[in-house]
Amino acid sequence: MRRCWVEIHLSELEHNLQCIRSMVPSHVKIISVVKADAYGHGIHATVARLMQSGTDIFAVANVQEGASIREMGSGWPILTLSPLLPEEIPACIENNITPTISTYQEAEAINKVASIKKSPIQCHFKIDTGMGRLGIWYEQALEEYIKISKLHYICIQGIYTHFATSDNDIQYTHKQRELFLSIIDHLPNLPKDCIFHADNSAGLDSFSPEGGRLFNAVRIGLLQFGAQARENSLLQFYNPKPTLSFHTRIGLIKKVPPGTPISYNLTHRVDHETTLAIITAGYADGIPLSISNRGSVLIQGKKCRILGRVTMDQIIVDVDHLNNPQCGDEVVLIGQQGKEKITLEEFSKNAQSIPWEILCSISKRVERIYKTVRQ
Ligand SMILES: *Cc1c(COP(=O)(O)O)cnc(C)c1O
Repeated sequence: MRRCWVEIHLSELEHNLQCIRSMVPSHVKIISVVKADAYGHGIHATVARLMQSGTDIFAVANVQEGASIREMGSGWPILTLSPLLPEEIPACIENNITPTISTYQEAEAINKVASIKKSPIQCHFKIDTGMGRLGIWYEQALEEYIKISKLHYICIQGIYTHFATSDNDIQYTHKQRELFLSIIDHLPNLPKDCIFHADNSAGLDSFSPEGGRLFNAVRIGLLQFGAQARENSLLQFYNPKPTLSFHTRIGLIKKVPPGTPISYNLTHRVDHETTLAIITAGYADGIPLSISNRGSVLIQGKKCRILGRVTMDQIIVDVDHLNNPQCGDEVVLIGQQGKEKITLEEFSKNAQSIPWEILCSISKRVERIYKTVRQ
């Protein structure tokens, strides 16, 4: 009785984690980024499989997400990537979650709560080397670090930065890498087991153990789910596999005469007699409006064009070239059917979006079905 669902292949998730391990030297820790409900995959199932598969650290967007991992076990460090709101600080400490600190003010606020609880807290210090978002601007990093490290209840256990262009400008990424390394070379009194990280998925394309001698962790989101952040990425040769496929059904087949207008605002008109399939999923399921008149779906292992605007609960596709399609037939939006496939990357491009946004947009209405063994 399913109208729209995703299938999540946990064995591929495990496979991809092994792929990522093989991309970096063995001392490099893997920080599995599972923010936003593990990129729409479902945080509990994803985290459980990553724990079993031997990831080292989890990273999330906020304390709520961190707490839902902490419920599952105490053995893994959990890093929050976003700044804390003042009222999140106590829960962060209680759940033994590692916050990211960009400024002295933040550190001071956390230190105050930690000192009341008499509970020192491990933190990662973030440096902005050219992203203009979180982190202290690199020119002030040394001074700020020294001030922060004097706070009694703040223990800095990690230092990191974030790349702005690792998916499209490796030169700039190189510059960020160099800036970061030159700063951490000057930070005094770092703990012995301090971790230094910069690489996201696309960063791994330009990660070199020689150039990055100090990097001993990487923060990987998208690549765990078998998708590439860059076109023509060399990482595809490690053969990561997609973890998610997106499915729906045919709700209605109908034949319309030449000149029939299609969907809201009549952005398409058929020029010959055409068999249409009305598909039982729309933007309320996470098919973006921007894929209107652009993308395709798979039915009977063949691509069928999306005609007209995506609507809330339906899309309309051209099935003229198919052999007797029926109400109830399965439709693949992302994934493989027969010999054809539509990758997440292709779907995202057709939607003039990016794989991260597409994964996060698959809505609550869409049931997640977990497959635990490879088929
Ligand atoms: C989301 C995020 C990542 C993971 O990025 P991917 O491109 O999905 O690998 C890494 N670091 C930070 C700070 C992030 O916010």
